[in-house]
Amino acid sequence: MRDLIAPHGDLPRGKNPEQIAKADPRQRAWVEVNPAAVEANCRSLRRHLCESCALMAVVKADGYGHGALTVARAALQGGAKSLGVATLQEGIELRQAGHNAPVLVLGNLTHSEDLKACLHWQLMPTLSSMREALLCQNLADGSGRQFRIQLKIDTGMTRLGCELKEAPMLVEAIGHLNQLELKGIYSHLALADGDLQGKAAMVTDQQQQHFETVLRTLPEQHNGFTRHLANSAGTLRDRGLHYDMVRVGLALYGHSPNLQLQGKVDLQPALSVKARVTLIRDVPAGVGVSYGHRFTTRRPSRLAVVGIGYADGVSRSLSGQISAIADGQLLPQVGAITMDQLVLDATNHPDLEVGSIVTLLGKDGDACITPQQWSDLSGSIPWEVLCSFKHRLPRLVI
Ligand SMILES: *Cc1c(COP(=O)(O)O)cnc(C)c1O
Repeated sequence: MRDLIAPHGDLPRGKNPEQIAKADPRQRAWVEVNPAAVEANCRSLRRHLCESCALMAVVKADGYGHGALTVARAALQGGAKSLGVATLQEGIELRQAGHNAPVLVLGNLTHSEDLKACLHWQLMPTLSSMREALLCQNLADGSGRQFRIQLKIDTGMTRLGCELKEAPMLVEAIGHLNQLELKGIYSHLALADGDLQGKAAMVTDQQQQHFETVLRTLPEQHNGFTRHLANSAGTLRDRGLHYDMVRVGLALYGHSPNLQLQGKVDLQPALSVKARVTLIRDVPAGVGVSYGHRFTTRRPSRLAVVGIGYADGVSRSLSGQISAIADGQLLPQVGAITMDQLVLDATNHPDLEVGSIVTLLGKDGDACITPQQWSDLSGSIPWEVLCSFKHRLPRLVI
């Protein structure tokens, strides 16, 4: 990990996100990213928050597949005050690109070398235990620098975070570690994307109560930190969950965590997946198509072979269930989706030709295909759909 630390303390000049965008538009398939949509979503989200509540843009997993640098820039432009990442490397990437905004590492860094890199790059690690707090104190002690950290409390997610009953003691102990600066206390909701009533409401309410119980035990002098609890779902479902900051991922990219929360804030999808027709075939009725011949033509058919497959992130479990849009018209996908290609039934679309662009995900004319539609069909969730597009697909920033 030592090579992650530059010899000098200054930040190297950044990669321009637009450089990543210079993909050849004649590609067989690509992901189109619209940073203006991310910026507009941030503004919409900001309007939904009260004046004193800040917006953290969660740009982990390469900005949910949109390109972390593209998204970070647009989000900060749209009023986000800080950035959330999952890993050390993701945080360093932001710093190397020249972003100076506060960055919180949401994942757990266990190695001393990782925490050292965090201190060097001024990334805030998430601490869940005394062990990590002491590691940070020792690292900072040697460097003569203050280490800005955040403490996570488990209020019911049962993943990262300290035990509820340990929290007051940990806050006090951190207060005594003179090299540590506690910048935030937070927790994470487990069921906020569930129904607005029933179990999801009960669990969310209970998590909030646990969070407040901890906050109430903290002595007066510990009030320089940011309290935060809500992800996208929490942000949209209840303003009572907002506190000093919300950590928004999915909504930033233009998608609602569930149908009930749709329309609470005006959101525009920022990503489309497009591919080109690479071959047109006119075949008779009764022809088996693709591996396993899962589909057989019922009539003389015009088939369009498209250069995108499951190795690009179009899940094989969607085979025969999705459509693609060409000129605002839906064309059914037929047969098994293969590693690099899929087949559309273009019988009702005689204008389609080799080189024509089809939209697998996103909007074209009046037609629109959403990650939610795919995830409903494949038993996934919109988050996973967005993160599944591989880097074989160039990101085209529009
Ligand atoms: C990923 C993540 C978020 C963002 O979640 P969304 O549902 O995409 O808004 C917020 N907080 C933490 C701790 C996360 O890991």
